[in-house]
Order: sequence, then structure tokens, then C-alpha cells
Amino acid sequence: MALKYQNGVLVSAATRGDGQEGEDITINAKRIRSIPLRLRINDPPEILEIRGEAFISNNSFQEINAYRESKGEQLFANPRNACAGSLRQLDPKVVSKRNLDFYAYQVHFPNNPIFKKKYNNQWARLEFLKDCGFKINLHSKLINNIAELEKYYEFWKKERNKINFDADGIVIKINDIKNQEILGHTQKAPRWAIALKFPAEEITTKIQSLSFQVGRSGAITPVANFEEVQLAGTKVSRATLHNIERFEYLDIHYSDTIIVRKAGEIIPEVVKVIKELRINNSVKIKFPKFCPSCGCKLEKIPAEATIKCINRNCEAVLIGLLKHWVSKSAMNIDGLGAKIIEQLLEAKLIRNISDLYTLNYEKLIKLERMGEKSILNLLKGIRKFKKSIMEKKIIWIRD
Ligand SMILES: [Zn+2]
Repeated sequence: MALKYQNGVLVSAATRGDGQEGEDITINAKRIRSIPLRLRINDPPEILEIRGEAFISNNSFQEINAYRESKGEQLFANPRNACAGSLRQLDPKVVSKRNLDFYAYQVHFPNNPIFKKKYNNQWARLEFLKDCGFKINLHSKLINNIAELEKYYEFWKKERNKINFDADGIVIKINDIKNQEILGHTQKAPRWAIALKFPAEEITTKIQSLSFQVGRSGAITPVANFEEVQLAGTKVSRATLHNIERFEYLDIHYSDTIIVRKAGEIIPEVVKVIKELRINNSVKIKFPKFCPSCGCKLEKIPAEATIKCINRNCEAVLIGLLKHWVSKSAMNIDGLGAKIIEQLLEAKLIRNISDLYTLNYEKLIKLERMGEKSILNLLKGIRKFKKSIMEKKIIWIRD
């Protein structure tokens, strides 16, 4: 996040976005307790720009998901999604409840040579941020040579799970601001800062079963279910096998011991089977011949390396399509989420995408747990979307 303070008062907060343009999240940022609304220093500079990272600790993340589960709401995939989703919330009260935290790591003093000179290195600027009332990452360390740096990296490679948030590496910065300025930026990143990533953490566990999920294109994705393990800060008991090729390569039998890791620190995946530990006469898990949702015969699509259900009326495909249709990356219809889609299908109020646009109050009131306010909100979202189609002439091509 980028925060701006005018005469010591928080005036705006934005997400980093693409580096050029971010989203305005000022109202929600004000609900994060570790972001001071007013700086705790006397005579602050007229303008102050602060960069930092908003996050949700692993403990808070588990509490949020436990609460959502108890309410029958969809779970967040990981703390990062939960945090980004919370900051885009329309209701700032929700942000307060999500227990977001913020670490400041950088400060700029635009057009202010006095402050620039007074705080002429990164370390002094971190101290300044602390004085202002910000939290900084307490594991930050001032390091004098490469040997110390190696020690620091090796230490956190082993100890990173003891921190209450997921860390995928460390960031090293040149301390002296003058040297930072000499080094400057490339098109994409500063030359005075670099990230050193940790190797992905791997752990062994035991296979219980495989499930086969039907995606919106009809493609079947094998997913491994295993004994729960703690991996890179979160509890994991399922991991994707991606596709049929990976499934064949891994050759999983019941009760196999497997190695799992998080790809990009987010999505758990099965790395390999430890064949030396395979029990005698164990049974190989087979890829299904028929769709687990509709029972139609599955077909191999050689060009895509996938196995697909090609039944256009397959319920799993339909659910996948509808969920995608209303999602942020597609039509982004306000008030219409995956959960409501499931309810609508269950109540047989919709069968396809065009049915979404014939939804009305009389139909929606039949749904359980659907209040007056949510219904009006949803209908408003649909109306808004229809209007935008007509204005923008959006053309949709089925994928
Ligand atoms: Zn099917």
C-alpha cells in the first residue's frame, strides 16, 4: 500500500496496483489499527509518502476461515487473498473485524531536503517510521558484509515458520540513500533492492484418496487428499495433480507416501511419490472413465493433454461456468457470488447463464437465508450489468 500524509494527517491510501495506478482504499485503510491516522511526531513534514505491506497473520486467517465455515460462507484460499479481498470491501466495518496488520518499510520526503538529509539511510528511515507510530518488521537487521547476510538468510530459511505470516524470502536494500539514488531503477524495479527467495518447503505425508474435479471447460483435474500437514504456515490436506500427464507420471497407489510443497508459496502440489516406502500389493488409483458429476463417458483430448466431460448439460460444468460468469475476472456482478449460484441451482431457479437475467424478486424470495436487502442488492447488480452491456456492447464468446 501507498499512504500519503499531509501535515501529519492520513489523507489517502492506495493499493500498489500495476505500479502506475492503484485502487483508492482510504476508507478501509483507516480501519487498520497499525496505520496511524495522525503521526506521533511534532512538526511533521508537509507531505509524507509511506510504502508498506498490509497483511493478515496466520492466526487471524485461521479465525476468519473458521468463522466463515460456521456461517456456510466460502473460505479464503490463503491469507493474501483474504487481505486483498478485505481491502476491496465495500463495508469498512468488515475490515475492522478482519484484523488486518500493516508494516511500513519505506518513506519519501517529497521536496524536503532537510528531512532527506536528516534521514539519509534506510535504517534511520525505519527508525523514523517507528517514531511516527508505524509498526516495522522487527526481524529487519542492519548488516555490514556478505558473510552476515548469508547467516541472516540461512537463519530465516530455517526459522520462517516461527513467524506469524507466510514469508517466501528476504529483501536486501542498500542502506545509503545517496547510493540508492546513484543505482537508480530499471524499467521494472530498483537496482538497490533485491529479493532472495527461499526454496519451497517440502514435506512428506500419506495419500488417502484422489478426487476428480470437473472444471468449467469440462476438464477433469485430479486432486490428492492426504493426511493433514503444516506447510509454509498453513494446514494442508489437498493438493492438485494438475492434469492427466502429471497423474500418469506420479503413478499414485493407495497409502503411498508422497512429498508435497506449495508452488509459488500458495497452491499446494504433489512433487513425487516415495516409491521405496510403498507397501506391498498396494492398489494403483485409476483415472475414472466416466464423469463424476453426470456419469457420461469421458474423452481424451490429445492436443490439450486433458480428459474432458463433453456433455454440455453436465451440472458440474454448468456450475463452473456460472461461477466464472459472475466472478470478478468475468462479468463481476455485484451481490452475485459462488454461494448464491449454488443455492439458485439447487432451488432450480436457474439452468443456464441467460436465466440469471430473468431473476426477479418473486423467485429470489424463495431462497433460504436470502434477506430483503441482499435480494435488492443482487437485482441492482444485475440491472447495472445489463445497462453496461448495452452501453459498452460487450460481446461474449464461449470458451
Ligand atoms: Zn459431466
